[in-house]
Amino acid sequence: MYESYKGPWDHESDIVIVGFGGAGGCAAAEAHDAGADVVILEKQPQNRHYSNTRMSGGGFHSPEPTGDREALKAYAKAMFSGENLPWKFEGDQEDYSDGLAEMWAEYAPQNAAFMQSLDPDFHSVRSAGAAYPNFPGAEQSKYSIYNSTYDKSATKKPKVQSSPKTPRYKKEAGEAFHECLLHGINKRGIPIHYDTRVMNLLHDEAGEIIGVEAIQGKKTLRYHSRKAVILASGGYEYNKTLRSAFLDGPGVDGWAFYGTPANTGDGIIMGMESGAALSKVGSAAGRLIASFPDFRAGGIRIGVAMPAVGKPNAILVDNLGSRFCDEREITQNPTCYITYKYALAFDINKGIYPRIPAWFVFDENLRTLKALTHSNITEYFDAPWSTDNHEAIDRGWILKADTLEELGGKIKAHPDNHGLMNTETLCRSVSRFNESCAQGDDQDFHRELKTLKPVEKPPFYAIALFPGGPNTKGGLKANEKRQVLDWNGRVIPRLYAAGEIASVFKYMYQAGGNVGECIVCGRVAGLGAAREINYKERR
Ligand SMILES: Cc1cc2nc3c(=O)[nH]c(=O)nc-3n(C[C@H](O)[C@H](O)[C@H](O)COP(=O)(O)OP(=O)(O)OC[C@H]3O[C@@H](n4cnc5c(N)ncnc54)[C@H](O)[C@@H]3O)c2cc1C
Repeated sequence: MYESYKGPWDHESDIVIVGFGGAGGCAAAEAHDAGADVVILEKQPQNRHYSNTRMSGGGFHSPEPTGDREALKAYAKAMFSGENLPWKFEGDQEDYSDGLAEMWAEYAPQNAAFMQSLDPDFHSVRSAGAAYPNFPGAEQSKYSIYNSTYDKSATKKPKVQSSPKTPRYKKEAGEAFHECLLHGINKRGIPIHYDTRVMNLLHDEAGEIIGVEAIQGKKTLRYHSRKAVILASGGYEYNKTLRSAFLDGPGVDGWAFYGTPANTGDGIIMGMESGAALSKVGSAAGRLIASFPDFRAGGIRIGVAMPAVGKPNAILVDNLGSRFCDEREITQNPTCYITYKYALAFDINKGIYPRIPAWFVFDENLRTLKALTHSNITEYFDAPWSTDNHEAIDRGWILKADTLEELGGKIKAHPDNHGLMNTETLCRSVSRFNESCAQGDDQDFHRELKTLKPVEKPPFYAIALFPGGPNTKGGLKANEKRQVLDWNGRVIPRLYAAGEIASVFKYMYQAGGNVGECIVCGRVAGLGAAREINYKERR
């Protein structure tokens, strides 16, 4: 499967970390503090380094340290695998789910304090509690979600996403989290080699991981890791081959993600090449998000978050014109992280995915309310999106028509509709929804009363929505020490994984889980790697 390598080396350190996102950054800080000499290799250039962590909302799980530890274990286990729920019988994490829950109970309550230890100017604000109140331990664990900010006066979750240009003292959300990480890494003097894409893991003749091979500009460099390599290179959101292999349905053009195009599953491929097992690779944190035929990175659709779904004066219909769900589920926490599964319903008689894409249909009232998406698209993808949504209309990203009949025709003519839209069905769906609004009761999908406002004021608009969202979650199989396992459950020596590449959230997910696990799993991997016996002293 792989050839062994004996040297020479261009660089030596105890630990090589692949990828500088939340997981890589936390692993580096922890490993350094445990006495290891660390280098971080990051594929993106320093001046345009946008990891998912940086682009994120910066929310993270951090249960209160005064919560009950056994309750926290139970709540974590329910989220990770659901094995302790009476209605769930699938043992996703197999024999180490207790270990994962134990890991979470030990580390997660330290998350907010750990981040502040990286940078005393960093501040986090509690924004929510347990999203699954019926899970065991939800209350007694004092489950909490915190949000990242540098605004010391902040008392609640920031509403505005900062940008790379926002000054440090005003940074919020993922920008604040990233700033904090960077500060902690720089303070420790940990080198980050940017523009350095790791391509291969290097093994000795016994299969132990002893370093990596990376491309830096035109050079191929070999980095020796005396103790371990930690893969923290994120998910596979922008890799066509992995998407078509692992995502359900039309995995390449039928899905979209709105994070960094740098996450191309490199670590997952390298892990597989070294014999790593996989775990729930097809799972994602996702819902239905916008995507436009001409907005792509490396040929792959760039997704655009659509938080306006579920708001008044709007509905969601399938590719043929029928409503199929309570639209609020698409955007509210925690259902918003699972509703991509709605889109994957397959019509077994017609052989089509009628909800790929679905169409977000709305009227002038919603169009004029505010920007339908938030700033990520503008800040990280250089795509302007004005507050009144006009730029997107002018680009043809939002279809516009004076009547619903005309809108149906425009959807039908859109390349993503494949001629499936039935205008009569669409008009019927809108008028039925409008009747529900008049009656104050959505008998079809029980949408909450305050959002029941009709789609009535012309012009009318439509946007195509695809399954997807922030990130993939499945990937390498790793145990509670975050050691990567092979298909026989054996540890691949000196190989660790943390973050999206090997998410612990394989069952239910609530906001802040991925960044929360970057801290927990990054630290656990960093500490485990630092405690490895030096390669040369091992025998
Ligand atoms: C817009 C958005 C909002 C989100 N909001 C939240 C939120 O509020 N809370 C939450 O919990 N989660 C959120 N998420 C998800 C969360 O941000 C990510 O799942 C998490 O930050 C992933 O961290 P990571 O360290 O695993 O990967 P990343 O942060 O993506 O870091 C991976 C790094 O690896 C680098 N890399 C990739 N391949 C290589 C290679 N071959 N060699 C070297 N480097 C490589 C990449 O360039 C990248 O810098 C959000 C995601 C997005 C996109």
